[in-house]
Amino acid sequence: MTGRFGSAAAAIVLCGTLLSGQAKTTGTLDIYVVDVEGGNATLAVSPSGESLLIDSGNGGAGAVRDATRILEATKAAGLSKIDYLIITHWHGDHYGGLVELAARIPIAHFIDHGPNIQPNQATDDFLRETYPTLYSKGTHSVAKVGDKLGIKGFDVRVVTSAGHVLSSPLSGAGAANPYCANFKPGDNNAEDPQSVGSLITFGSFRAIHLGDLTKNKEFELMCPANRVGTVDVLLGLHHGQDTSNSEVLVHALRPRVAVMNNGTRKGGLPEVMRTVYTSPRFEDLWQIHFSVLSGQEYTVPGLFIANWIDDQPAAMPINPVPLPAPGPNTPPAPVHDGAAHWIKVSAQQDGTFTVTNARNGFSKIYGRK
Ligand SMILES: [Zn+2]
Ligand SMILES: [Zn+2]
Repeated sequence: MTGRFGSAAAAIVLCGTLLSGQAKTTGTLDIYVVDVEGGNATLAVSPSGESLLIDSGNGGAGAVRDATRILEATKAAGLSKIDYLIITHWHGDHYGGLVELAARIPIAHFIDHGPNIQPNQATDDFLRETYPTLYSKGTHSVAKVGDKLGIKGFDVRVVTSAGHVLSSPLSGAGAANPYCANFKPGDNNAEDPQSVGSLITFGSFRAIHLGDLTKNKEFELMCPANRVGTVDVLLGLHHGQDTSNSEVLVHALRPRVAVMNNGTRKGGLPEVMRTVYTSPRFEDLWQIHFSVLSGQEYTVPGLFIANWIDDQPAAMPINPVPLPAPGPNTPPAPVHDGAAHWIKVSAQQDGTFTVTNARNGFSKIYGRK
């Protein structure tokens, strides 16, 4: 009897070991879209464990929370360091958690679009006093359109940076974009259009993350000819804000899947939901949060949403809730400081990919098309 129990226990341990090491033996490119409360932190890991992190979450009171959540993703991926970090632009929801993150895991290469161009005292102080000490432990470079990162295991191509966009089409792209004729310019602040945009390819799988690139830059990138081509997965979507996500971008990229890094009261706006769901070839939208700005009318099934809020409301309103005007009396957005969950995309070289909601384990396979 003892011997049998012994071998059973050994078998269980062995099984556990195999499972925990699975990420490195599956041969997939794994992309974790981490919940950083309406900011951005997206981690891509090659089969051999080389990694790219796009943005580092919020600063201020959210910095430790977001750095800890990013660290959980690096642990799940078996990483002991981050090889490449791209800060898409100098807004606090994209670089704010960097000091706390860098204190927890080494970062080898720091990449950004160059100087901040939307004056902000805290950001300017950070760039002058703090950032150089962080990247002095690694290397620092400014992304130029057309650059290819030196990362192994998958390709990362810079398609936008510092207000510049690809001037000539990538291989296989360059067709006229039929959506340009109906383009309507949008509003933007100064920094969002500076975003470093990255096209990620792994075999025949393609995904794109454009930071918070706004509509007018989307037009420059995609019109009159689509210089990018198509993608399988559209990442980020500027939190689902309607200052981005024009048809010239979304419909021409023809994503099968989008993963939106929205907050509890940030993004998921009706116009964006309409654009995404009328996009040719589109199958599913996965969201980091329920957003009260969507209401039930514009929300995907909960299966596709990774995070609730700490205090569950009795019911989700059916109509989208209008965004309250900013000011001292604006009620705070619903809080989510508790356990957080990511959306994970696992892609194979043949273009097949699986998306998983880490909260409920719901998973869907997108076969070759
Ligand atoms: Zn959350
Ligand atoms: Zn943002």
